[in-house]
Amino acid sequence: MEEIKDLKELLRMPKNILITSHRNPDGDALGSSIALSLYLQKLGHKVKVTAPSEYPSTFTYLPQIEDFYIYDVHHEELEPFIDVCEVIFSLDYNGLDRIDKLGERIAATDAKIVMIDHHLDPEPFYDFGLSDTSSSSTAELVYHFMGLMDHAKYLDQDIAQCILTGLITDTGSFKYNTRPNTFICAAKMQETGIDVKEIQDLIFNSMKIKQMKLLAHALYKRMEIIEEYSTGIIVLNKYDYSNFNIQRGDTEGIVNYLLMMSDIKLAALITQQPQIVKISLRSKGDISVQEIARNHFKGGGHKNASGGAQYGSLTKVIEKFKEILPMYMEKKEIT
Ligand code: 5GP
Ligand code: MN
Repeated sequence: MEEIKDLKELLRMPKNILITSHRNPDGDALGSSIALSLYLQKLGHKVKVTAPSEYPSTFTYLPQIEDFYIYDVHHEELEPFIDVCEVIFSLDYNGLDRIDKLGERIAATDAKIVMIDHHLDPEPFYDFGLSDTSSSSTAELVYHFMGLMDHAKYLDQDIAQCILTGLITDTGSFKYNTRPNTFICAAKMQETGIDVKEIQDLIFNSMKIKQMKLLAHALYKRMEIIEEYSTGIIVLNKYDYSNFNIQRGDTEGIVNYLLMMSDIKLAALITQQPQIVKISLRSKGDISVQEIARNHFKGGGHKNASGGAQYGSLTKVIEKFKEILPMYMEKKEIT
């Protein structure tokens, strides 16, 4: 199946459809998945939405989020549905390893897999793929997908709220990753009559006190600047995790602060989590953090925003990151 007409044919009659997204789902993973679910429900399909792990509490305002299945927690409830599922959508991820055990589970079904995604280097695990690495977000692609299906008319306020959430979160409120179509898409969402300012507030002006204190701590006590390589690093260790009671989503956005310094071109947030050490990378311009994440931390993502992880000690990850800097960054004379 390669053509949109095959997909139209497949979705002509009501089907059981599972929508999956990546572990640690963010605003785009959730927004695009729920938007697609709401649209497919309008066509008469039975739809369930899942991702391997929990979502940040910021996104509890999204419609139908209460029906979201966290696969790690609810997989037993979901298994019978996966058994009878005829179509599986893969949203906002480019390889089955991004969805942990759920990846093996869906690969073993007979369902057709439809991938909608904007990450670099997609793996060929799907039957139909809408992959566009120049898209701001998967949410932007979901609206494009509705258009390809000749169903842009099904856009409503709930769907628009979800799509706008994906657009806003993956572009840092329209600061990066935008193209003209991103703004056209945002305008279409606003035309439904949704309150854009309210959604911006729900996303950005909803920090808890402990998050604000964590941000202050991260910048004041945990930041290291390596001037000769124009690099900033923030490390949060397991004591920070317990002292600040850090939950999923609480560290979101911290890495971006490093890029607010004009001389910093590469930023890393390294976090010591219970099983793994996670690294979140951001860059400016031509520096590809996707290559760094892919080559050294079994990860990937986008040119200017990527992530990866490694088992083992926090110190080793920090050392490794510092060691590879000369391979990717020009050395500056510091006077
Ligand atoms: P973040 O740093 O916000 O977790 O992720 C930034 C980008 O990198 C996102 O597009 C995310 O999907 C991708 N990413 C984060 N962690 C990983 C990972 O472990 N593997 C891969 N392939 N991509 C990742
Ligand atoms: Mn995305």
